[in-house]
Amino acid sequence: MTETVATTDEQPASPNDTDKTYDVPADAEAYDCSYCGRPFAHESWLALHRGLDHPNELDDAEVDAFREAHDGEEESLATFRLQALGALVLIYFGLLMIYALV
Ligand SMILES: [Zn+2]
Repeated sequence: MTETVATTDEQPASPNDTDKTYDVPADAEAYDCSYCGRPFAHESWLALHRGLDHPNELDDAEVDAFREAHDGEEESLATFRLQALGALVLIYFGLLMIYALV
């Protein structure tokens, strides 16, 4: 039995498709990427996007903004890791005490 493969002239949708449309609420403030037009709710998210998706097209100010946003992101990630570790320790010893008493 032979298998037929459907051929089409259309290209499959790629994740980097630039023809995407974005549903931005009319009253929302959006920061649009000047390279691909993608909107972001926060300026730091736009700076991170520019650094990750358009690294070769940035000027010095945009590179500095990306580094600043990246450092802030690393800092809040470290804070989250510490809080998650603290919560796990509390849950572990809490359950241990419950097990010891019951
Ligand atoms: Zn972009």
